[in-house]
Amino acid sequence: MMPNGRSLAVINALLWDGTGRDPEARRLIEVREGRIARIGPLEGSAPPRDLPVLDADGRFVMPGLLDCHVHLIYCRFGSLSEIDQWPLEYHTLRAAENAATILSYGYTTVRDVGTRGAIASAVRDAIDHGLVTGPRVLASGPIICSEGGHADSTPPWMRNEVSLAVTVNGVDEVRKAVRTQAKQGVDNIKVGITGAEASPYVTTEQTAFSPEELNALVDEARRFGKTVACHAQSYLGARMAVAAGVTTIEHGTRMDDETIARLAAAEDTYLVPTLCTIYSFLDLSKNKKAVDEMRINEPIWLDSLRRARAAGVKIAAGSDLGNRYLQGEQAIELELLVKQGFTPQEALLAATRTAARAMTSAIRAASWSTMIFASSPGVTPPRSFPTFRSWMSGRSNEIVAVPRPTWGA
Ligand SMILES: [Zn+2]
Repeated sequence: MMPNGRSLAVINALLWDGTGRDPEARRLIEVREGRIARIGPLEGSAPPRDLPVLDADGRFVMPGLLDCHVHLIYCRFGSLSEIDQWPLEYHTLRAAENAATILSYGYTTVRDVGTRGAIASAVRDAIDHGLVTGPRVLASGPIICSEGGHADSTPPWMRNEVSLAVTVNGVDEVRKAVRTQAKQGVDNIKVGITGAEASPYVTTEQTAFSPEELNALVDEARRFGKTVACHAQSYLGARMAVAAGVTTIEHGTRMDDETIARLAAAEDTYLVPTLCTIYSFLDLSKNKKAVDEMRINEPIWLDSLRRARAAGVKIAAGSDLGNRYLQGEQAIELELLVKQGFTPQEALLAATRTAARAMTSAIRAASWSTMIFASSPGVTPPRSFPTFRSWMSGRSNEIVAVPRPTWGA
């Protein structure tokens, strides 16, 4: 499928470089050791003799896609408590399998925003060490939330030390949870400050975290150089998240105009609207509480997104897979953004440039542009890409080249 090394020259590419410029034809891309060393016109610059050459034959080439919101352990689970019932060993293997699937669909970087134990960072390291195949992973630990909050599905008379949720109550426990996760080597802290549709004990309108707890969490995360992804679906939750300076607001279902204005003005806070969460619930969920809530939330959510986009909020793509939709289908999120009025290029930017900024924030300057994939015969195409066929020159749209991405210094 591809010259399998980390160095190659792609010639005759229709290149979309992810900066917002229109695609340019007949480009030469020189990749050395997984990094893009040079991009230029094919005319007048012969491909270097020391590299294997891949003739793109005019096909569309672009940076690998990024997804800010995945759960590598998920695979069409029916409820949060069901996720907690599998052995960690099974979930680890499942996560590795899911990672390989996601990469094969052109997603070269994902941020895992909620796992059990240290599975996401373990899979990240196994990929980095070449043990298994997968995208670049930015890992979180379990989701930090209050007792009975966002991801807590454990009955009050039971304890579960390896749940999807780490429950905290009070500022001291918040700080301890962040420090423990930093010790485990996470890249990002995931906090759930409001209910989710699937939460058994709390609704999406309820905020189950105090401003003091959230401020302490963000403060502690910053000390350790971690980003913060904050699940927020209530008006109060979104307001608290922007005020606390989280890196990304996940879902953003309810946001008043003042919160949106502050979010738009915030230099380093992004919205990850996760439209797949809405439609995967409505299409596939059998959880009555979740579906009933989602029917109410859908129009509110879409209106928040519309107002956020109009106000200039920085929007990054995240799919929330494998929540019901199957892993690998992350590009459905881009189709849904287009359905909500985004141009195809805007949707692609949300999954490339903006997602890279949101994931790395101030921590690591990502040379995300080193990740490319190309369309060419060879591999099964991602099922949702035909929507972007105009961007792909109407030719076959299959992945041939996925050099292992490398982060910048
Ligand atoms: Zn999620």
